[in-house]
Amino acid sequence: MSLDPAMPWLRQYTPGRPTAPPIEHGDALSLFRAAVARAASSPAIHYFDTTLSFAEVDAQSDALACALLQRGVTRGDRVALVMQNIPQFVIALLGSWKAGAIAVSINPMNRERELALLFADCAPKAVIAHENAYREVIARVLATTPVAIVITTSELDYQTRHEPRLLAGISRYRADGVPDFAELVAAHRGEEPPPVAFDSSDTALLVYTSGTTGLPKGAMNSHGNVAFTAQVYRDWIGLAEGDGILGIAPLFHITGLIGHIALGLLIAGPLTLAYRFEPSVMLDAIRERQPAFTIGAITALLALMNHPEARADSLASLKAVYSGGAPIAPSLVEQFEAKFGHYIRNAYGLTESTSPATVCPVDKRAPVDPLFGALSVGVPTYRTDVRIVDAETAAPLANGEAGEITIRGPQIVSGYWRKPEATLEAIREGWLHTGDIGVIDADGWLYLVDRKKDMINAAGYKVWPREVEDVLYSHPAVREAAVVGVPDAYRGETVKAVLSLKAGVDVTTAEIVQHCRERMAAYKVPRFVEFIAELPKTVTGKILRRELRG
Ligand code: AMP
Repeated sequence: MSLDPAMPWLRQYTPGRPTAPPIEHGDALSLFRAAVARAASSPAIHYFDTTLSFAEVDAQSDALACALLQRGVTRGDRVALVMQNIPQFVIALLGSWKAGAIAVSINPMNRERELALLFADCAPKAVIAHENAYREVIARVLATTPVAIVITTSELDYQTRHEPRLLAGISRYRADGVPDFAELVAAHRGEEPPPVAFDSSDTALLVYTSGTTGLPKGAMNSHGNVAFTAQVYRDWIGLAEGDGILGIAPLFHITGLIGHIALGLLIAGPLTLAYRFEPSVMLDAIRERQPAFTIGAITALLALMNHPEARADSLASLKAVYSGGAPIAPSLVEQFEAKFGHYIRNAYGLTESTSPATVCPVDKRAPVDPLFGALSVGVPTYRTDVRIVDAETAAPLANGEAGEITIRGPQIVSGYWRKPEATLEAIREGWLHTGDIGVIDADGWLYLVDRKKDMINAAGYKVWPREVEDVLYSHPAVREAAVVGVPDAYRGETVKAVLSLKAGVDVTTAEIVQHCRERMAAYKVPRFVEFIAELPKTVTGKILRRELRG
């Protein structure tokens, strides 16, 4: 293999495989259509005791598309999916695409304030959500947001086992006038939506990230981005037709969307879903469904490892285990391997890189950086270029120097939904500026060593201080607020708020936490609250967040 000296990573590529495999599909729906054509009767989704075949998912997503079209969804409309890991998520995603729409994946843990911001930004024509989330949160948001179509569903549907570890205590809630997903699908069964075709540049997904402003930005993952990254997973790891996938990452996150759903559609393999991650249920699901692959946050993999029911052969069916989204301590990789015989391989990417940008090759072990002790996040994958640049000037740096990681390749989004300025800042001449600080060694391995951005990474869930600070400032007692990440043995990092209060008022930690809980998803709520008289500031009065870390 002749090597480009600017791409030393090519020598780490698995021998015998093309370094730039031809891209097979131009859009995400084609992956699915091809799977249906090849493997209609093969299992597409396992959910507790239920299995849906590709033909069944095809029929149900056709029916849902017809229901959406009949209710007024047109090409390019946004359909918000506010669901956990349930079959309806996959059916709704495909149904949205078949109706010509853009699917918006939304964390169902979001509270009213967060949903209102998201809905205001993407203006969804339709929302498909858990009925309990509808009752508790969404119904109230809809009063102020013009959403034309609401469809609700339940995690109790599509199964009869009623797994007590997850589904006990959940009851149905049918709101007046709100159609039920399963009933709607049944009513439109047998109907076929008109043919729809997408260009690779058409937006398939809006996946929200926050940012320095604290306001949500919808990364526009195109059909081409999705089809390419699904193929990256398949070819890089060497997954075979029909291989099963264990869905441990949330489907609303880019890892789940690509490394679970899109990958499963590409290889016509069954995706095992179990509502929410619960380690003992997952261990049972692995035994029952024998998946070949999984990818998820390191905390989820460690929860499997530390569960008393985990046995040496619990993960025997898996061919490869990958982890992404958060730093991995090399010692934990060793413990996991000692327990299960599986070496965890690291993958690095962002929502804006449609999941994988650098991945550890399947036949290699990632080196550990002697300087920082960090496990490498792998090497740039197919057709992907990574450059380390000066974080301030963006001038390219030499190999071995630490700077901002920039990425260019077919997985990089074209921008953020209706946010041209944020787009220009993040993506310059095709290069995504990640805000992560890294170093590439002479052999092409990438290491993450720091962050330029203020983001907090709590077990893969990203928390942006500015958003939490805005919520804290809305409390009448708060004079100044700064939110920082502090080390946490389980989550890697967790959220801490440092506050100064207005003169003459008093407030307890519990009151602050409650205030946040009502306004934000639980993972953003500060675990620690410290009160101090005055926050450290620059001469110009800007709060010095970094001085408060630790
Ligand atoms: P998200 O958009 O939620 O996928 O978050 C992307 C961010 O997660 C990146 O900018 C990194 O800071 C972090 N991240 C992703 N993968 C890894 C990894 N393998 N190790 C450490 N941090 C990671």
